[in-house]
This record gives sequence, structure tokens and C-alpha cells, in this order.
Amino acid sequence: MPIKSLIRTIPHYPKQGIMFRDITTLLKDPIGLRVVIDELAKRYADMKIDKVVGIESRGFIIGAPLAYLLGVGFVPIRKPGKLPAETIGHDYELEYGRDRVEIHTDAISSGERVLLVDDLIATGGTAEAAASLIEKIGGEIVECAFVIDLPDVGGRKCLEKHGYKVFALCEFEGD
Ligand code: AMP
Repeated sequence: MPIKSLIRTIPHYPKQGIMFRDITTLLKDPIGLRVVIDELAKRYADMKIDKVVGIESRGFIIGAPLAYLLGVGFVPIRKPGKLPAETIGHDYELEYGRDRVEIHTDAISSGERVLLVDDLIATGGTAEAAASLIEKIGGEIVECAFVIDLPDVGGRKCLEKHGYKVFALCEFEGD
């Protein structure tokens, strides 16, 4: 089952020039959803993962069922002000402006092996910020996993330059 064929492209959303890769069409397909989660579970089954960390909000949809299948805990990385207990945050640059992600300081124990999950990697800025938060609280990143990579935007290369391993189920070129 080709995952890629179930992903819908919306041109010029949320702004002119962006080809938005919409995974809602993949998620609503019962086989599509199952294949995504099963493929990732198969890949990570023997990698001794301790925690799956998902990035708000589409990373939650993929990360939580994956953690369930791997038999490990799930940790959310969220936008500012959403997590109720003590947090640390990381600010990062967007194409226009800045953004910030936060994690609970007690979400990961020192030395735990972490799988970082999001739906898509574009510039890699969000994943890099998330990875640095995980490391700050003592986690070791085993790999960063995505449903979609946009290779032309260069996020994978950027993460790899920083020493992170990257895996994606499919790629969209020319974005
Ligand atoms: P980045 O930090 O540039 O790697 O952007 C990654 C985040 O932005 C992910 O959480 C994606 O959900 C979202 N995103 C960026 N570009 C796109 C796109 N072309 N289509 C859908 N989502 C995108």
C-alpha cells in the first residue's frame, strides 16, 4: 500500500507558494493509518526505545499509537504555555519570525533512549529544537522519524549534520 498516494497536497496553504502535504486523507484511511503505525513499529521494535516523543500536534497522532505498540511511554512536546508542570523551552527561527517548543522537565529520565516523531520534516527547525530539549533533560535520541520528508528543503541534511539519524516513510520532491 503506497502511503504517498493517500497524502493530499493543498497548493498555497497556509500561504502562497507552500505545497501543504495533508495527512488527514492518510489518517482517515483505515489501511493507511495501520500501515504507517505498523511500519514504524516494525522498524523500532528491536531498537530498545524507552520513550516515544511526539511534537504537537500531528506528532501526537503518530507517536501515541506507536508508543503503545512498542510498549513504551509517550511524551508530548508542546507549544508554549500548554504543559501544566515545570517545563523547559527552546526558541527557534522560522522562515518569518520565531517559535518555541516546551517539554516537562521530568518527562524523560537520564539515559533513556528516545524516538522523536513528527508528521513531516521541512527545514528541520522544529525537530532540532525538540531534539535539543530532549537532550537537555538527559534523553538520548536514537532516531528522528517522520511520515514525510521534503528533501529539497534540507531538514534531513541539517539534522544529520547535527549528528541525528533520520528516517521517513516517504518523500515529496520539488517543495
Ligand atoms: P520544519 O520545522 O520546517 O521542519 O517544519 C515542520 C513542521 O511544520 C511540521 O510539524 C509540519 O507539520 C509543518 N509543515 C512544514 N511544512 C509543511 C508542509 N509543506 N506541509 C505540511 N506541513 C508542513
